[in-house]
Parts: sequence; structure tokens; C-alpha cells
Amino acid sequence: MTTVLECINAGTTYLEKRGVEDARRNMQFLVAHHLGCSRMDLYLRFDEPLDESTLAPLRVDLKKRGERIPLQHLLGKVSFYQHEFHVDARALIPRPETEELVEMLVSEVKPTPRQILDLGCGSGVIGLSLAAAWPDAQVTLADVSTAALTLARENAQGLDITNVEFLETSLFSGIAGRFDLIVANLPYVPEVDRPTLTPEVGHDPDLALFSGADGLDLIRQFCPQVSQHLHLGGTVAMEVGHDQGEAVCALLRAAGLSELQLRKDISGIARFPLAKMPASSNSVGTAASL
Ligand code: GLN
Repeated sequence: MTTVLECINAGTTYLEKRGVEDARRNMQFLVAHHLGCSRMDLYLRFDEPLDESTLAPLRVDLKKRGERIPLQHLLGKVSFYQHEFHVDARALIPRPETEELVEMLVSEVKPTPRQILDLGCGSGVIGLSLAAAWPDAQVTLADVSTAALTLARENAQGLDITNVEFLETSLFSGIAGRFDLIVANLPYVPEVDRPTLTPEVGHDPDLALFSGADGLDLIRQFCPQVSQHLHLGGTVAMEVGHDQGEAVCALLRAAGLSELQLRKDISGIARFPLAKMPASSNSVGTAASL
């Protein structure tokens, strides 16, 4: 009879041979998923024998993971900031650095923004996390992808988050009005980087990843329009690629935004350009400020 620990060890070796990064952690997540327990609980169950009714479906997922299907697609969920979200091939798998952006905004944007736009919301992790953190705010989640918006809606329903609305639009084309906070994690991967991406990233929708030769095509359209959609003193916050921060700050500055900051992620990458809509030519901000 195979025990939990033997199964984890064998699966880890299998995944390592197929080039899966963090093979043991991946295998632990898969075993925990099939046992209906947390990864931590496995440590108390190492000697437990696994019967065929658990092993058979686990083998199927292990094989898929070996074929480099992302772990998150096999688990069907991802933990992001303070909630668990459903994920699948309809939208980008949320990345850990994006959680850092949410954390930064929740702790630093004061006073609480009332009207928020998450442009390019994908699965909804940013906008829904902000809506949950600020129940008095109204959050618009917008995306060009019908499939991503359906997933974002499902996530809102699953988490019972109601202070949100959903809008299908290409960038700002369908957006009227102004916001106190605009957050955008737009596609920013340069087309030329495609051959260097891991097989797992190939399971994210192209639409959510790529944006022209240098990755900045959409951001170049986004920046000049931001000021038409921010209240005076409002904030724009973005996530960009590892070497794009300075260029994006320059675009925001050229568009009339002020108080530019380029914040680093936990790996030290200048990842998050933040800027404000000047409150007026000669006064300080009244709306959401950083
Ligand atoms: N950070 C993601 C990646 O490296 C890309 C996310 C995006 O384009 N917004 O794959």
C-alpha cells in the first residue's frame, strides 16, 4: 500500500524529471487537493495509506502537471490576498507580485477611494480584493474578454462581493465618468519574449499576456487617457514588466499625471508605477491620495 509520504516522494521525482519547478511543493498541493485537506495537514498524514480511489484521479492530475499544465488550473483555484479565487484558462493566472500591488493600495490610498476602476480585470482578483477591502467603494471591473468577465462575475458571486459592476470594453472606449482610483495590470509581455516563456505560461490566454513587440502597445494607449477618467487628486496604479517601469512613468508624466512613484516588488523589481491626477494647478489633493 502506498503511503502519503511515498506518494509525495514518487510524484516529486516524476515532476522533477519533467522540469517542473518546485516539484515537491506542486506534488504536495496535488495530494492535498485529492485528499481534501490543506498542504500543512499532509505532515500529520504521512503514514496514511492511499487507496486506489484517491490514487487513480491523482495519477491523472500528476500526468497533466508533468505535461506542464499549470498547477492552478488543476486545482481550479488560487489564493490571492485575502480570498480564494476560481481560475482557469479563461484568464491569466494571478501572479504573487500582483498581490503586493493590492496590499500596497489597501494600506496606502487615503482617504478610501469611493469609485474604483480595475481595467483589464481578468479573473477579477485586483478589483474584487479592493471591493472586499473597501465595502463602501463601488468597483468597476472592465475587460475586453467576455470569457474573463464571466470568470470575474463567477468569482464575485462565489465570494458574495456585491459592490461591483462589470463592463466589456477595450481600454477606456466603453468607460464614462471618473474614478478616485484606477488600477491596471494590462498585458505587458513583449512579443519577442514568447519563446522564453515557461510551458505553463503558454496556458494563459495570449490576449492577457502580449502587447506588441516591446509589450507596451496597450500601455501606450492607456496612459494618455487616464487623466480623462480620474477625479482631481485621484490615483492610478499599474503593474508592468521588469524593465518597463521608467518608460511607463515617463508616459504617465507626459499625460499630465504628477507625484510619480515607481515602487519595487519583493524581488526588488521596479514593478508598480503609481501617479496622481493633480488636485488643481495650485492646491493639494482632496480625493484619494497616496
Ligand atoms: N507577469 C506576467 C508574466 O510574467 C504577465 C502579466 C501581464 O502581462 N500583465 O507572465
